[in-house]
Parts: sequence; C-alpha cells; structure tokens
Amino acid sequence: MPLELSAGEFRALAARVVDLAAAHLDSLGERPIMPPGSGADTVATFGGGIPEVGLGPQALDDLALVAAHARAGSGGFFGYVLGSGEPVAALGDLYASILNQVVTAWRSAPSAVTIERALVSSIADAIGCTGFSGSLTSGGSAANLMALAMARGDEARPGAVVYASDEVHMSIQKALALLGLGRAALRRVPVDDAFRISVEALETMIAEDRAAGLTPFAIVASAGTIVTGAIDPLARLADVAAANELWLHVDGAYGAPAALVHPEWFEGVDRADSVSLDAHKWLYQPVDLSMLLYRDPAAARRAFSMTDDYAASASDDPVEGFAFFDESLELSRRFRALKLWLSLRYHGLGAFREAIANDLAHARLLAELVEAEPELELVAPVELSAVCFRAKGGRNAEILQTVNRAGRVYLSNATVRGEFALRACFVNHRTTDADVHAVVSEVLQASAGGFA
Ligand SMILES: *Cc1c(COP(=O)(O)O)cnc(C)c1O
Repeated sequence: MPLELSAGEFRALAARVVDLAAAHLDSLGERPIMPPGSGADTVATFGGGIPEVGLGPQALDDLALVAAHARAGSGGFFGYVLGSGEPVAALGDLYASILNQVVTAWRSAPSAVTIERALVSSIADAIGCTGFSGSLTSGGSAANLMALAMARGDEARPGAVVYASDEVHMSIQKALALLGLGRAALRRVPVDDAFRISVEALETMIAEDRAAGLTPFAIVASAGTIVTGAIDPLARLADVAAANELWLHVDGAYGAPAALVHPEWFEGVDRADSVSLDAHKWLYQPVDLSMLLYRDPAAARRAFSMTDDYAASASDDPVEGFAFFDESLELSRRFRALKLWLSLRYHGLGAFREAIANDLAHARLLAELVEAEPELELVAPVELSAVCFRAKGGRNAEILQTVNRAGRVYLSNATVRGEFALRACFVNHRTTDADVHAVVSEVLQASAGGFA
C-alpha cells in the first residue's frame, strides 16, 4: 500500500472512522467505564508486531476493539482530573493533523500562530489575566516546567529554593529536579484546615532561608490543589512575592477555568507572573492541551530564546516576526489551538461557563448527599469540584476497587491528612444528577456487600 491516498480513498476511510466515533459516543452510557480484561488480555490482543505488507482498509477493522478496551468517558467518570473530551474539539484535532502545520513561527504557520496567540490572550482575559500572553503546551507539567525555567532565568543560582504548599502537585518538584536544582529545592509550606498555604509560615520560612544563605526565587500558588481543590490566597501571596522580589507562579492547571464562573475566588491572579491552565481538564478538551500564560514575554525570551539575532533579522513586523520557539521549550509544535478555537466558536464561552457551574453544583450535591448519609463522611471541605470522602466503616480501598469494577461510576483515591479517601472530581460535561446519586448508591452497596 503506497503512502499516498486519493481524496476518494481518504473520504471513504474518514467516513468509517466518523461512523465508529459516532457509534462510540452513542454507546457511552451503556459501556462499563472500566473495560473488563486483564493486562495479559490486552497484551494478547494488542501486543502484536507490525505487518511488512499493509492491510489497507482492513487496518481499520480493529478500531472498535481498541474502544472496547478503553475507559469510557461517560457521565459517571470522576477519576483524577480528566476532561470529558468535547467532540467538536476532536474534529478540530483531525483537521489540524490534516493541515499539519508546524507551529514554530508565523512565517511557518500564519493562521495557526495567529489563532494560538489570539486564543491564549482571550483565555487569559477570560480568567482575569488581561494583557498576559503565552503558549499552548502538552500539559500542566510542561507549563509548570516552563514557568519555573522563566522564574529562574538563565543564571545558575546556588542554594536556589521555591516555596509551595504541602498540597502542591508533583510536577513542581519534578520541574525543579529537571532544572538541575534538585528535589530538595522545593520548600513545602504547611497548610491550614482548608488545605490552603499558611502565609505566616511561608513568610517565616523565606526569612529563615535567606538568613541561612539560601536564594529564594519563586512562590508557586496552587489554584486549586489536585487533591481537594483548595485555592491558595493569591492576593496575599502576591504581596509576599512583591515584598521579597520573588516570581509568583499560579498552578491553575486544574482550577483556573473556574474563574470563568467565580472570578472572586481568584482575586490577585492578575498579579501573578505566570499561570498554568489545563484545557484538557476543566475546559473539556481532548488530551492534550494546556497553556502557560505570563505577564512579561521578555522573561520567556530570556529563558528560551537562543536565536534572537536570527529571529530579529527575519522580520521587524510584530506579527510576521513572531516565533513561539523564542518563548517556549518546544520547537516543532502541532496546531493545538485549532480544537479549542473550534470548540469555543461552536459552543460559545457561555456554554463553558454553564458546564463549569454544573460541575460545581454537582460537587456540592455530592457533598450534601454524603453528609446526609450516616455511613459516609467528607474528609475535606469542597472548594472547587473535587469531593473527598470515605465510608466510616473503613475498607475504603476495597470499596474503591469494587465500585470501579462495577463500572457505573469511576472514582479515584486520595490521601488526605495521611489517610486513604475516595475522591470524585467533576470536570465532566456529560454528568447528570443521576450520576451523582449513583456515586453514593454504588459506594454504599460496595460497603454493604462484602468484597467477594
Ligand atoms: C493535572 C495537574 C498538573 C499536571 O498537568 P498535566 O497536564 O497532567 O501534565 C499540575 N498541577 C495541577 C494542580 C494539576 O491538577
């Protein structure tokens, strides 16, 4: 089978894929969220080699089998922080791959670069960071790494340290390790009863570290934390950062989209130096799509530009001379913006506000149902859309396994104050009130039913 296809062949293949995709969406409600089958089963099914001679259209025959062994993104999926995969965006991904732009610089990809820059600036504006620019990344981990690279600048700093709450996402420590600062460069600050960073403890630690000869360079605020959704007090952290001349990065990978509905929870976010936001979480986009927003593009160029002369000579025009590679870790980049651009234009920002408000309401509904149930209890306040709870009788690890294996809803586990908890996170536009009620009934049933 030669690599080149005729337009007619492509159309026929695409029609089959679209049919399969539509059938998959149509059947989400009936699919078990966790597919049956062991690791050995999947290796036996998918672990085979690559044919020397192509199968042609027959190669598509096994796509339905791939779906049968995939986790279904139905309304009962509440694991991790995983967006539900908005289908118009998926069409944008397909089209982006066909256009196959390499989104390095305007001169390589005029429409893609312009759409990405406009989109990033519109999202920044929508979450209260008017005037910020930035770029799309594969995930919050990459965005956080870039933010800390910018915070550090390009000089080596002996004894460089960064402050974040004890509830900070692991990607921050990973970024510090990758930047050559070592895992110990993360200084973990205690949290209050609502899992927000203690600003007093932070100030004391900064002063003590300075006195001990260390070099603080950044504060990472969580908005919200991955486990319980706590939002650190951003305005107070901005004060501390300003008083100590530290970079303030807000890790909003999970929570930042909630600013579309409740900007007051994020007061002070406009004073951050950088903000990360995962569109593949609470903007419901198919993986992968995240972004790093920052106030000062010169800081990004200081960290990432190796080619100032070359870029400057290409064009003096601010649009035509722009290159993402001067402000990003990445060089070859795909047209990530198209899916979100298409999805937002199709549905309108108002539809996203409504979906986020629904997720917040579903989290509150679950919290109420848990509190009304004598056998269950919340183990953390519900700040955003993550609900951490447990069965009082214990055996919550077994309950989790039983619930997930039953396939009606999918929960994850969380460690809250050192204890095992069940966690439901609502970033799912398909969820109905019935799905929320099912969380409680499934957990109660698993807890009563024994663990055969
Ligand atoms: C998910 C998450 C990350 C990491 O993002 P990825 O897109 O998974 O790389 C970082 N911080 C927080 C708070 C998150 O929720």
